[in-house]
Amino acid sequence: MRKNIVAGNWKMNKNLQEGIALAEELNEALAEKTINCDVVICTPYIHLAPVCATIDTDLIGVGAENCADHESGAFTGEISASMVASTGAQYVILGHSERRAYYGETNATLKTKTGLALKNNLTPIFCVGEVLAERENGTYFDIVKTQLSEALFELSAEDFSKIVIAYEPVWAIGTGKTASPAQAQEIHEFIRKTIADKYGKEVADNTSILYGGSCNASNAKELFANPDVDGGLIGGAALKVETFMPIIEAF
Ligand code: PEP
Repeated sequence: MRKNIVAGNWKMNKNLQEGIALAEELNEALAEKTINCDVVICTPYIHLAPVCATIDTDLIGVGAENCADHESGAFTGEISASMVASTGAQYVILGHSERRAYYGETNATLKTKTGLALKNNLTPIFCVGEVLAERENGTYFDIVKTQLSEALFELSAEDFSKIVIAYEPVWAIGTGKTASPAQAQEIHEFIRKTIADKYGKEVADNTSILYGGSCNASNAKELFANPDVDGGLIGGAALKVETFMPIIEAF
């Protein structure tokens, strides 16, 4: 059966020392509790190796926030999926709306990145989601379906089964506006049905679909109570243990 997961996305926050301190603090907090979901932190590249060396990676999964769309070579400044994997990280966020909006990532680029992540045994946390205008004009179902089908639906069922989906409405990311539990359930159910239509019910039922967008201690419980919401991808609230832990404990 699918896993419940709470994953933090640190974005471009925390210098190396601050990042290691946050990871250690989270490790200590989790070691003292019984936790009912998997916990993952996705950090800037430079944090990956030292964080993996410092924390208990059985307690906290570690991921990158992106990887390159090439295997290796003359791509100055890029970090490949195999480099990410060599740090000990197990996950990589792909298709975050900030990458799509500010760095021009297309579904085609993301298809390549997903293939490279899987080839290097990384679990992609693959983000989909609509902008406000698409929510308001009702095209959000089509937008999300296209993001899934163009980037992922040429994968084999076996490879697709290794992917975690994160539904992140762009209008809710970092804005303090959250999808209501009913809005989240509606689109998560649609995503699961879309996966079932392509790969069958068993694959769909085993796919973890996370919600992301201003998720915090006060709304996590209600969001996660939905049958098709299997956890969260958390931005701002993942930057402090006191705001991240209550979200983890919402399960
Ligand atoms: C995110 O960037 O993935 C995110 C969900 O951010 P926030 O929780 O800050 O809205």
